[in-house]
Amino acid sequence: MIKKAIAVMTSGGDSPGMNAAARAVVRTALYEGVEVWGIHNGYRGMIKDDMEKLTRFSVSDMIQRGGTFLGTARSSEFKTPEGRKKAFDNLRSHGIEGLVIIGGDGSLTGGSMLSKEFGLPIVGLPGTIDNDVWGTDYTIGADTAANTIVDALNKLRDTASAHRRIMIVEVMGHKSGWLAMMTGIAGGAEYILVPEVKYDLDSMCHELVEMYEKGKRYSIIVVAEGACSAIGLGKVVEQQTNIDTRVSVLGYIQRGGSPTVEDRMKASMLGEKAALAIISGISNVVFGFDMGKVVSINLFDAVNNKKTLDPELVRLARVLA
Ligand code: ATP
Repeated sequence: MIKKAIAVMTSGGDSPGMNAAARAVVRTALYEGVEVWGIHNGYRGMIKDDMEKLTRFSVSDMIQRGGTFLGTARSSEFKTPEGRKKAFDNLRSHGIEGLVIIGGDGSLTGGSMLSKEFGLPIVGLPGTIDNDVWGTDYTIGADTAANTIVDALNKLRDTASAHRRIMIVEVMGHKSGWLAMMTGIAGGAEYILVPEVKYDLDSMCHELVEMYEKGKRYSIIVVAEGACSAIGLGKVVEQQTNIDTRVSVLGYIQRGGSPTVEDRMKASMLGEKAALAIISGISNVVFGFDMGKVVSINLFDAVNNKKTLDPELVRLARVLA
């Protein structure tokens, strides 16, 4: 069944490329002659009826911007059945027949509830810098965040080597070590600590001392925030090794910035697919990438499975350290 009006929203943590994805949804829908609404601030805006009809100019000058022009939020009210009913009633009052959600696994889980409880057609796009959505090897924003981190590692390496220091760098990733692992390998880190893999602090410190005795000038340790606190780790490492140690917590800088070509292109491709799918009556799917090709994943499979860290990356990190 062809839809007459759809909506798009961004939800959860913002990620660079969300704008490119939303832009592609809007322009594709309008190209197909379908009305498209933008929901402000995720589920919070849906509950507050904070939404507007978009035109092609609403998304002008957006493809190169980080953040999300629609705004994003986390809403505890949406986690209640009453909150979701309010949200659905608002969509219905505008004649919205399908929804494209750009967000992480929490946002997609919220979408799966709207589908189950009210039969609302949902298409999801994985938008998170964590790259932790099951069924896709790509999420919108992860490439840009990874490049921001590697750029920081390059700079920190210069100063670490000048002073023969150990540099500990904390990156985002509460439950997922993807960002730490990818950037640690790409940035030439000696150690990469992630929530998914146990590490032995004593033997790490012992190896560091040995390496410095053999003439090593500096080392980089990348830590995912979910593995341990970099500040606490820095104190212990300095105490155990007696080597000058510095800690750098990269923080929110990792979320911002103009999206890379990869994020702009992939977000645009996914946005087009999502709009065409929802317009033509396909629902309960998430579009992602597998081995460079666009794939569709069942929405319930995507939210009910946990993505694991590729053991090949863990192995490669050990070999190359
Ligand atoms: P990120 O990966 O960047 O953290 P996310 O989409 O996983 O993004 P969450 O905070 O987990 O971010 O989820 C965003 C919003 O989705 C929540 O604030 C809530 O409104 C909704 N949501 C999350 N989990 C559920 C759930 N189990 N049931 C209903 N709604 C949910």
